[in-house]
Amino acid sequence: AAAAAAALEEPITPPVKVELTKLLINGQFVDAASGKTFPTLDPRTGQLIANVAEGDIEDVNRAVSAARKAFDEGPWPRMTAYQRSKILLRFADLVEKHTDEIAALEAWDNGKPYEQAASVEIPLFVRLFRYYAGWADKIHGLTLQADGPHHVQTLHEPIGVAGQIIPWNFPLLMYSWKVGPALACGNTVVLKTAEQTPLSALYVSKLFHEAGLPPGVLNIVSGFGPSAGAALASHMDVDKLAFTGSTNTGQIVLGLAARSNLKPVTLELGGKSPFIVCEDANVDEAVDLAHDALFFNQGQCCCAGSRTFVHERVYDEFVEKAKARALKRVVGDPFRKGVEQGPQVDSEQFDKILKYIRSGVDGGATLETGGQRFGSNGYYIQPTVFSNVQDDMLIATDEIFGPVQTILKFKDINEVIRRANATHFGLAAGVFTQNLDTANTLTRALKAGTVWINCFDVFDAAIPFGGYKMSGHGREKGIYSLNNYLQVKAVVTHLKNPAW
Ligand code: ADP
Repeated sequence: AAAAAAALEEPITPPVKVELTKLLINGQFVDAASGKTFPTLDPRTGQLIANVAEGDIEDVNRAVSAARKAFDEGPWPRMTAYQRSKILLRFADLVEKHTDEIAALEAWDNGKPYEQAASVEIPLFVRLFRYYAGWADKIHGLTLQADGPHHVQTLHEPIGVAGQIIPWNFPLLMYSWKVGPALACGNTVVLKTAEQTPLSALYVSKLFHEAGLPPGVLNIVSGFGPSAGAALASHMDVDKLAFTGSTNTGQIVLGLAARSNLKPVTLELGGKSPFIVCEDANVDEAVDLAHDALFFNQGQCCCAGSRTFVHERVYDEFVEKAKARALKRVVGDPFRKGVEQGPQVDSEQFDKILKYIRSGVDGGATLETGGQRFGSNGYYIQPTVFSNVQDDMLIATDEIFGPVQTILKFKDINEVIRRANATHFGLAAGVFTQNLDTANTLTRALKAGTVWINCFDVFDAAIPFGGYKMSGHGREKGIYSLNNYLQVKAVVTHLKNPAW
């Protein structure tokens, strides 16, 4: 570990050049109206990667009018659905072909392991665009029976200009969950990326235009939340808002949408998901799955299994093995082969996580391993495991968003149901058991948008994702996301001669 930590002083040169740093408006890469830029930093060192155009209100206005024009006058909603579908498929092919460069940009800007970006996230991205390309020409309304001399049908129309705001933890995946269904349904888009990770969206959006996307259909504004993000959420000419980020910011953007033009909003927010290991579990398998459920992506997942509830009968064995697994976790430069964990995304997250770790220690939880920064450069944190965690400790109630596993002990199923549900969040849950009755009981009792049984973090394009309670509104992915981007128009035609 000492050798690995020392090696962090010499970061590996990423195998890609940063070429696109401007805003993408109406099919052109342009400077911000103010001429301002902001730095995007390398989480391995805190050093500059590139200065990126900083979008603000005026740029959002320009992007929204380009999207409006492309929707009202442009070819996109008027193309045949088959033509739109073919562009989405060509885009997926191009992204697949450029996997190496795109994965390198994503790893560099975010800090995630390059191998993870290349082998998990880009394939999921490509699959999602192919999935929605398949939907594009299968969206249609109904013919209905109604009382009276009427022919009744529904038209499923695109909603218009979609404003989309995404976070930094999965810049590409979040792009795909937002842009895929919106464009498949015939909408146009203004997407604001997270200020920590603006680079990969610009790269793939250039490929989208090479695939035949008409100008103005997809506009990308890099910039900050309270300026560019708020301008998009409160814009009078944006017809729909989709947001992924923290619960606090979700409350802000929902308010902005309500106070401007009442645009409908989908929200995918925070979580504190229980991962429940029952007494009949195979402990070795449960340890590995619980480890991945928490530590994947440096612990920066809204659905991380961040409350590991373990039955008292297997608790001691589980804690010992979870600690051993965390000690084996390979932390290092995200461009090094075999690395499982890179740095956290930025200094703010790094500081916040270390603060939570201190609060765990001060609150009396047992620090089994980790607890410190890893190395002395950048934002790396040791894989950390706490046992003897109590429900009211901050590390058990708050979203830490870092590599910190908290293990809690339980005695019986009713107790764990009550404790697992005693949170304002309700994004996901994991259940580890061989007992069918236990699995069924927990599945129905847990208040969460996803329940994974003997698995975790399965993100197939067809599976809907979203939260109960303060984890959000609505569902993304699958057939469910189409409704977010469609209006239903009822068409009622009087029948002169109803007998026929
Ligand atoms: P995190 O704390 O994980 O960075 P945020 O919710 O702050 O999560 O960020 C998610 C996205 O929301 C980012 O693109 C960010 O720029 C944007 N954002 C932050 N604050 C606002 C705001 N007041 N209005 C609109 N968007 C915002």
